[in-house]
Amino acid sequence: MRNKFLFTGLMLLNFVAFSQENVKKTLKLMGSRFDITVVANSESEGGSYINLAIDEISRIEQLISSWDPNSQTSLINKNAGIKPVKVDKELFDLIERAIAISKLTNGAFDITYASMDRIWMYDGSMKQMPSPEMIKSSIDKVGYQNIQLDKDKNTVFLKIEGMKIGFGAIGKGYAADKAKQLLNDKGVDAGIINASGDLNAWGKQANGENWMVAITNPLNKNKAFSWLPIHNAAVVTSGNYEKFVSFNGIRYSHIIDPRTGYPSTGIISVSIMTSNAEFADAISTSVFVMGVETGLDFINQLKGVECIIVDDQNKIYESKNIVLNNTD
Ligand code: ADP
Ligand code: MG
Repeated sequence: MRNKFLFTGLMLLNFVAFSQENVKKTLKLMGSRFDITVVANSESEGGSYINLAIDEISRIEQLISSWDPNSQTSLINKNAGIKPVKVDKELFDLIERAIAISKLTNGAFDITYASMDRIWMYDGSMKQMPSPEMIKSSIDKVGYQNIQLDKDKNTVFLKIEGMKIGFGAIGKGYAADKAKQLLNDKGVDAGIINASGDLNAWGKQANGENWMVAITNPLNKNKAFSWLPIHNAAVVTSGNYEKFVSFNGIRYSHIIDPRTGYPSTGIISVSIMTSNAEFADAISTSVFVMGVETGLDFINQLKGVECIIVDDQNKIYESKNIVLNNTD
């Protein structure tokens, strides 16, 4: 009799453990493809959690978008050289963290790169290289040192007229972190927020296994280059296989070295693994600018950050402590 109870109890436990499912939705947010997955008790429960994540990402998009003329970011840009703009603490803090990353990367990462955005265009409209004079005059406006923050008043002032900031290299990672945080707070134990390859995953799949993340093969984006089992980690990839221009056989990426005004060359993809997608996003862009040698050296000095770099000869480099099978 006792055995029978035990047996039924185990059956029930089994049922509870496996009654959860992975619920997934794909949609366009922040101008990019987002795949949001949560582990939930039912399709409809999962769907309502996903909707919360969508609202959160849309809210962030409204705050940081440079395209929306009414965003606080656009207001900062419009008032460059004119006056400080009061912003939400959230945006203020994001800008403060972006500046800290600029300092950490010796200026390889710089949200004021956006001051140059009329020089390099990746929409097919560029027919020739911009002249050195054009580049020179546009980088005069680039430089995180010219962002003035007032912590007491929560104001941001871009000191030079025509100067601009843009969150293209950090915004998707930030949104992934925030959406994950929100769902975590609501009691969702596991999921993945994947913003076009910039993702943050937590917990385990409904079947108890680790999430598997594909690192895209730069030569063939439909083919995964390797699969990583991950558990509570962010994986972010910056690649120039989608947005680039070519002149005289040289591929110029959409990542620009803020110190020279020229797009970075030599690397075709950088993947970063760490705990936080915002940092990983910014750092992947920075490694592009630094180049293979400096980039690897930089990553090897950061605790808990690993990377895979593919150069334009399709050579693969890995950081010192990379563990490609970190199932735990
Ligand atoms: P992806 O868009 O492939 O995820 P990234 O995360 O590296 O790639 O972001 C690239 C975007 O970052 C560019 O399209 C541009 O908006 C912006 N950007 C380019 N160069 C820099 C830079 N040096 N510092 C900060 N942002 C940059
Ligand atoms: Mg990035």
